[in-house]
Amino acid sequence: MTDPQPPASGIEYEPVIGIEVHVQLRTHSKMFTPAPNTYGEGPNTKTDPYTLGLPGTLPVANKEAFTLAIRVGLGLDAEIASYTKFDRKNYFYPDLPKGYQISQMDLPVTSNGKLPLANGKVIRINRAHLEEDAGKAMHTGGDASFVDLNRAGIPLLEIVSEADMRSAPEAVEYLERLKLLLRYLDVSDCDMEKGSLRCDVNVSIRPKGMEAFGTRTEIKNLNSFKAAEKAIGFEIRRHTSVLQAGDEVVQATMLWDEDKEQTRVMRTKEESADYRYFPDPDLPPHHISESWVEEVRATIPELPWIRAARLRSLDGITEYDAGVLIQDRAVADFFERALAVSGDAKATCNWITSELFGVMKERGHDITGCGIPPERLGELVRLVKDGIVGSGGGKKVLHAMYGTDKDPAALVEELGVGQISDEGALEAIVRQALEANPDTVSDIKAGKKKAAGAIVGWVMKETKGSANPGTVNKLIRQLLG
Ligand code: ADP
Ligand code: MG
Repeated sequence: MTDPQPPASGIEYEPVIGIEVHVQLRTHSKMFTPAPNTYGEGPNTKTDPYTLGLPGTLPVANKEAFTLAIRVGLGLDAEIASYTKFDRKNYFYPDLPKGYQISQMDLPVTSNGKLPLANGKVIRINRAHLEEDAGKAMHTGGDASFVDLNRAGIPLLEIVSEADMRSAPEAVEYLERLKLLLRYLDVSDCDMEKGSLRCDVNVSIRPKGMEAFGTRTEIKNLNSFKAAEKAIGFEIRRHTSVLQAGDEVVQATMLWDEDKEQTRVMRTKEESADYRYFPDPDLPPHHISESWVEEVRATIPELPWIRAARLRSLDGITEYDAGVLIQDRAVADFFERALAVSGDAKATCNWITSELFGVMKERGHDITGCGIPPERLGELVRLVKDGIVGSGGGKKVLHAMYGTDKDPAALVEELGVGQISDEGALEAIVRQALEANPDTVSDIKAGKKKAAGAIVGWVMKETKGSANPGTVNKLIRQLLG
């Protein structure tokens, strides 16, 4: 008898992933100074003596940034600190004129949050703390480097998850949901291309069933969720082959090389800086009152996943539909206002996600800039549902709705796309059609259902396309018994 031997590489490993997200908060001014928080201006035009780190300047914390951080904390069902302070994180780099970044070490503004995934699993959030962004260094590769300090001092919220994710797709789902939440809460535009949202992922693996974490590597420089997914997958495979070869994973900070689709070591643990954190003596600790938290709580919108579940419960709305509608809070708002008029959830969803989105794309508008009030779209959907206008005519009306405030019913008239749905009005024409096509009629009677199409076509021709085909079909069935 032989025992089933596991292959040499037979240990099954489980990935463990924790993520740090930096999100730029959409305040008017910077974190500790009144210089404006803007993007895309000429280099070094949005600076001031504080941003430049000139001696004698002092920081004052931005209340708006606190309010936005509290919003995030409430959206993550986290604890909001009643007492919070700032610390200096010291390091030297040309994009950091003061020689330190003001951050929060042990008393973050919010901690112990939760973010639910679609399958109900909850990713725990360790903390979210306020800090200031660094400037941007640009290395030309030649003999010159440039520094743009516009970004220096922009408020950042660093959101640190627990190492609760177990696969690359799960990590991406976490990132997508977090981004959706941040957009619903309207705390940032979360535009990864502009750097408003950045993420660093920490990856390790451990033998399945083992509790202790393995040695991790952290991957920086990820500028899309796709890149994050690939980088995590790459590191999982790399760690696995290192362990299978009997070696040890070296704790390191890695960079993701987009072109080569591989990671490379930026620095190992031994090379990492000692930040010598200490409380910033220029800033007092801050108290967050319960009444302030309650004030902010009153402004928190329905969270995207709760809204998705509610929309999903509407007649005809699928999981997919609900997912599309909630991707953008403005779209979900538009849908609900249109629905209040149309009374038909599925048709309203279809008109928005296929027709309206199509027209918006053609014209380069988003839903708030499309100029069509949701109520008017709802009216159009109702006209189609009631058979006043066909779907083809309805599309013409939708295009015509741009740049006018005429209501859809008036446009149906004006464009002459009205549909005859009145059975009394159509019956005589259908009778005529049946008389004129005796062969087709016998085909229909013989059970050839498709033959009815020829009769519908005849009626359409006779009415110049304005007959409601549904009504015509119904009349054919009635008249032929
Ligand atoms: P640091 O302060 O060095 O960045 P933290 O303890 O704050 O380290 O962790 C940063 C992130 O790394 C968190 O999201 C955490 O969950 C994650 N993390 C920590 N240890 C591991 C590990 N062994 N494997 C995967 N992720 C980890
Ligand atoms: Mg960290």
